[in-house]
Amino acid sequence: MNLLFLDGRWQPASDAATREILSPHDGRVVAEVAEATAEDAVAAITAARRAFDTGAWCRTTAPERAHTIAAIGRLVADHREELAHLETLDTGKPVAESRVDMDDIAAVFAYFAGLAGSEAGRVIAAPRAEVASRVQREPVGVCTLITPWNYPLLQAAWKLAPALAAGNAVVLKPSELTPLTTHRLVELIDAHLDLPGGVLNLVLGAGPVVGEPLTTHSDVDLVSFTGGIATGSAIMAKAAATVKRVALELGGKNPNLVFADVDLDLAADHALTAAFLHAGQVCSAGSRLLVEASVHDTLVERIVDRLPEITLGDGFVDGVRSGPLISPEHRAKVERHIARAIDQGARLVAGGRRPDDPALAAGCYLEPTLFTHVDASMTIVREEVFGPVLTVESFADEAEAVDLANDTVYGLAGAVWTNDAGRAERVAGALRCGTVWINDFHPYFPQAEWGGFKRSGIGRELGIAGYDEYTELKHVHHTLRPAPSGWLPTG
Ligand code: NDP
Repeated sequence: MNLLFLDGRWQPASDAATREILSPHDGRVVAEVAEATAEDAVAAITAARRAFDTGAWCRTTAPERAHTIAAIGRLVADHREELAHLETLDTGKPVAESRVDMDDIAAVFAYFAGLAGSEAGRVIAAPRAEVASRVQREPVGVCTLITPWNYPLLQAAWKLAPALAAGNAVVLKPSELTPLTTHRLVELIDAHLDLPGGVLNLVLGAGPVVGEPLTTHSDVDLVSFTGGIATGSAIMAKAAATVKRVALELGGKNPNLVFADVDLDLAADHALTAAFLHAGQVCSAGSRLLVEASVHDTLVERIVDRLPEITLGDGFVDGVRSGPLISPEHRAKVERHIARAIDQGARLVAGGRRPDDPALAAGCYLEPTLFTHVDASMTIVREEVFGPVLTVESFADEAEAVDLANDTVYGLAGAVWTNDAGRAERVAGALRCGTVWINDFHPYFPQAEWGGFKRSGIGRELGIAGYDEYTELKHVHHTLRPAPSGWLPTG
């Protein structure tokens, strides 16, 4: 695994540097990977530029590309167990969740294979006779795809599938913390499929080092990034100098609204999944629970009662519900959030500490944590914690529920729980976010767009708009019987 994939060849970093990949479960070294230099990133961009400009991939027919994208999906399905194992090794998440990720990834490639074969553009009703006019889709060019550590291969697939399907050349950069599945997928593609050299490049390395050319180089046409808001905003500023297109998915502070008329056991069950799945390291985590005042205490009690069911531990062990946080640094950041919340007056109802179990002492574990008596003046309510921390607020009525829910700079996702269909639709319409679940939390499909309002990002992944990100539209106007323009006098 200690090689980069540049211009169709596997090679070490130019200075031969490597990085140890550590298990977040117990800190042991699970792999050694190449650590690219900025020069390696430039080599990848140059290879992608050449591959794009020579047209070996972008000028293939859409059905040919669709065939390859579908084949990548089948590779993922055929290697499901191996890839799921690597994902758990790298992230610590339960292997059952990694298997679900692999199924989703296969479905994403299948979906974009279908779009590649069918979304060609459209014929325009031209305003003049004897004119053929069409708007056709073309690839954007060289795309750099920068992905995070929480859903490493899934996030890569959301970008890679539409980018390749549309005919772009790409440089893929997974998080330095979790490169294993992305590396393996590129190996599988290289071994089984016939992509022209330079169309797909893999750069492993530290974000700030290789990220600089990936986001500033003049040969890059589009940067697609998923990660934190600070990095995303810095990338946008850098990309502005050469007017690159940017697609940003920057997380959320997602409200989960529960009205008093619902089955509170069901609402508690989903509130737990919303907040604590994958230790809360989910961009759409339901980290802010907003509860109608009359049932606030009851719902909190039911959630607290069920917290012990979130068994922490090794993702390879049956029955484990949640793994560790991704790194000691990230756990320390979450712990600082918890300490600050207590300082600012939030009431710690559960968790807030590392588990006592000595078997988990070497890992980055943290107990599921619940705060009540919070408000929007506190950082725990305002900032994305990206850990197993749930805050609970109460509201008096629908208007206050919506006001509280929207009182955030983020706008990725949200949910409303009610049996009143009219209220469900009113609230869904009023929430300022890219996905709203009614009486559910977390499901998504490749067919439906995913992305944020406000500072949760720019653009969309998945769906037709997720394909649009990677295409330019070109209007081709064809005059069938050329005649003088009429501007100058005709002899
Ligand atoms: P980052 O946003 O820094 O990292 C995401 C990706 O960007 C990684 O591949 C990273 O590489 C890369 N990167 C880092 N710096 C640069 C740069 N200067 N130029 C280009 N690419 C760069 O996430 P963190 O790991 O620092 O997490 C910070 C916070 O972001 C979390 O606490 C959480 O709140 C949020 N987050 C949100 C995610 C989401 O799904 N929206 C996912 C992950 C984090 P590398 O890892 O190799 O440094």
